[in-house]
Amino acid sequence: MAQLLKGADVAVAIDARTAAKVAGLRATGVVPALAILRVGSKADQLSYERGAIKRCEGVGVVVNQHILPEDVSNEVLLDTIRAINGDEAVHGCLILWPLPNHIDAERVRECLCPTKDVDGITEGSMAGILADKPWGYPPCTAAACMEIFSHYGFELEGKRVVVVGRSLVVGRPLSMLLLARNATVTIAHSRTLDLPACCRAADIVIAAVGVAGLLDAQHVAPGQVIVDVGINWNEVEKRLVGDVVFDDAEPIVAAITPVPGGVGAVTTSVLAAHVVDAALL
Ligand code: NAP
Repeated sequence: MAQLLKGADVAVAIDARTAAKVAGLRATGVVPALAILRVGSKADQLSYERGAIKRCEGVGVVVNQHILPEDVSNEVLLDTIRAINGDEAVHGCLILWPLPNHIDAERVRECLCPTKDVDGITEGSMAGILADKPWGYPPCTAAACMEIFSHYGFELEGKRVVVVGRSLVVGRPLSMLLLARNATVTIAHSRTLDLPACCRAADIVIAAVGVAGLLDAQHVAPGQVIVDVGINWNEVEKRLVGDVVFDDAEPIVAAITPVPGGVGAVTTSVLAAHVVDAALL
């Protein structure tokens, strides 16, 4: 049986470290605060927001919600971000993504102050990841994967890692974080030829695709570590599933994250940790 890499255990460890830092900050009169900016009320965003608030408040981070209607204008949204940028009591800002189609997402990214970009959406944060410099923060999901490797003691140096997915929010930044830890990284995507063979040749496979069950028994090999970032709704079974067919992969591989209860359970802990790090600056 494969080792089950439970996100909750990782989250508990991160939260303990974060809460200790918060205690130190509060002793000096600094109360770490996160602004959450949501446009509209999509069910998955509401669910993530609830989780983020619970996690942040649990470690002593204050959360201010900014909720705008689905038809908000670009200018009102940008003004809200400018107000958050200018609020010295706020240390980080999470903008729930995706934004409605009429919103100019690039202007939103440019508007957010890089020092408050705790979810790594600005070009400044992206440049920091690319250059392996401490500018901004990596996206919380990418950082959550790295926390899982650290918590469970998986060495990355010299390991062959295949990251399936090349989005700006997960695949690309995660690939750079892995490279910075001296892994040998292959980034696979929708045009990759022979994805099963590509994945089987790796020591570690990270699936960040958004296609339920894309990776099955033919994509995995004995001894591998599998991290499944995918969160997909299975309409037939009425439950969340990953990009990996868990029941196919689990008997073959050495370790695997479940969905739900894997990467997703760590993301909000990383968010709270980033806010506290921003408050420490
Ligand atoms: P995305 O922006 O849609 O990117 C998906 C990536 O998968 C693209 O690079 C795409 O390749 C690639 N892809 C699509 N079909 C493929 C195929 N058949 N074979 C190989 N690659 C394929 O998605 P995302 O935002 O990165 O999210 C990925 C998944 O992670 C989603 O399920 C999302 O819900 C989940 N997620 C989870 C968390 C969390 O906290 N756990 C947070 C964020 C996202 P091309 O570039 O060639 O199109």
